[in-house]
Amino acid sequence: MTTNTLSTITCPSCGHRATEQMPTDSFQSSYECKGCGAVLRPKTGRDCVFCSYGDIPCPQTQAERAARAEAGSCCGGCGG
Ligand SMILES: [Zn+2]
Repeated sequence: MTTNTLSTITCPSCGHRATEQMPTDSFQSSYECKGCGAVLRPKTGRDCVFCSYGDIPCPQTQAERAARAEAGSCCGGCGG
């Protein structure tokens, strides 16, 4: 499996895009836009800013999705 650790974040306030290195062992829960200075927060409490605003989700989410795909299950919990 290939894990991408770079994600391009698009600021919802000003549209500024920046490619950032993602942490592989933790969720990044805030990000300051280099364009307008807005502090981005994840759209949902458990996600990271890369999952919410980046073009590539964080490594943990990539791993979870790969595991689900391997298991052939839609959600990892339903067995279907
Ligand atoms: Zn911005």
